[in-house]
Amino acid sequence: MKILVPVKRVIDYNLKPRIKADGSGVDLANIKMSMNPFDEIALEEAVRIKEAGKAEEVVAVSIGPAKAGSDTLKSARAIGADRAIHVETDEEVEPLAVAKILKAIVDEEQPQLVIMGKQAIDDDNNQTGQMLAALLGRPQGTFASKVEIDGDHVAVTREVDGGLETVRLALPAVVTTDLRLNEPRFPALPNIIKAAKKPMSTKSPADYGVDTAPRLKTLKVAEPPVRQAGEIVPDVDTLVAKLKAMGAV
Ligand code: AMP
Repeated sequence: MKILVPVKRVIDYNLKPRIKADGSGVDLANIKMSMNPFDEIALEEAVRIKEAGKAEEVVAVSIGPAKAGSDTLKSARAIGADRAIHVETDEEVEPLAVAKILKAIVDEEQPQLVIMGKQAIDDDNNQTGQMLAALLGRPQGTFASKVEIDGDHVAVTREVDGGLETVRLALPAVVTTDLRLNEPRFPALPNIIKAAKKPMSTKSPADYGVDTAPRLKTLKVAEPPVRQAGEIVPDVDTLVAKLKAMGAV
């Protein structure tokens, strides 16, 4: 079985994003960028499936600027991807265009399983996996907290409101990962050194016949409103009295 893992280069999750002065977006100049955390989880899962002898090859793909190839896909190969595909773009690509490019890659590569993040933490779209499954006409298991390959099926335990749901999908299928699926490994130094020697092909959206021109227009990006300072009350009676005075109870 071949597993395809789309990984996006995003602002590092430890950083607090700064908004550009003109409100047109997040300032990414001189900012540390990393692999989207949900994609690290997806890649870890794919590598574990391979290590368990249930897959032969893990292919990582990233759509983005040159550094998505030189950095993000290098990390992906250090973590355990056997091969990488970099689709180079200058601009941020919207989920539908990403899904169309991924569909073309799936048509070419024929992976039995696509495992990807449930969302990219930069735009929080949570759309690409669902769009890809729809474009492919393949079953999808979203928000996975457990993934078990069972012959030509995959059982996906999903985190849903109020509990867990398990769905059994016929392969080939698309799975998107939630936070509790696994804890990604730190790549060992020898694997980091070996990563650059693993193959990577570089493509363009045009190679897949996909027009990436934006369909969405960002009107304004703004900081969330500053929270008002709270008040510490000495005891529960005072709290209840204050809530009553506010008409809250
Ligand atoms: P989104 O729908 O933008 O929240 O992204 C959901 C998932 O789609 C991510 O966690 C990635 O696995 C994948 N994805 C989105 N954009 C890209 C990209 N430019 N390159 C590779 N994978 C992507």
